[in-house]
Amino acid sequence: MKSLIEKIRSEGEAIGTQIVKVDGFVNHQIDVAFMMEMGQEFRIRFGDVQVDKILTVEASGIAIACMTSVAFGYPRVVFAKKMVPSTMVDGFYEAEAKSFTKGTVSMLRVSKKFLEPKDRVLIVDDFLAHGEAAMAMADIVQQAGASIVGFGIVIEKAFQGGGDKLRQAGYPVESLAVIDKIEDGVIFFNSEQ
Ligand code: 5GP
Repeated sequence: MKSLIEKIRSEGEAIGTQIVKVDGFVNHQIDVAFMMEMGQEFRIRFGDVQVDKILTVEASGIAIACMTSVAFGYPRVVFAKKMVPSTMVDGFYEAEAKSFTKGTVSMLRVSKKFLEPKDRVLIVDDFLAHGEAAMAMADIVQQAGASIVGFGIVIEKAFQGGGDKLRQAGYPVESLAVIDKIEDGVIFFNSEQ
């Protein structure tokens, strides 16, 4: 998505060789109109496939998941939680995800009430790096006996291998911007976009 690549170039920032900071429009301040355009782009890319639920992980996936829901005719957005709130009493699916950005391991949890075997689930997230969060969400969908329509990712860092893992597992993956490498503060995008 050319407009996203331009926005990352003008407003984003490389932190070392591994991390991209897009706090100005995704991770700290949200450009709602642009999020809406990205949601529409997922709709175009996935076509008329039926989506019953959109699954993401709190917190930074929620905004793009909501805008994607608008584009798909308002399927419910379910977000995996990283902490167990005292209100989560009915049983949940859980899967572990390591965070390379934070150096922590979190357990992602989704209440059993919100994923059913009949659900066709589109998994959406802001970044795809090593694929830990994405694989944990796929695991949760499988535990529920539901099916995965595909993965909609805002920014894929191809050099960290998560995209390869998902594609090798046979999942459709649509990434709106794919980064091949970060060198000397410069972000290099995949030339085929
Ligand atoms: P993965 O699980 O694929 O290794 O990493 C994906 C998760 O880590 C995303 O949910 C995202 O929140 C976070 N993440 C990974 N890489 C980056 C990055 O370069 N910048 C930001 N802001 N978040 C990232």
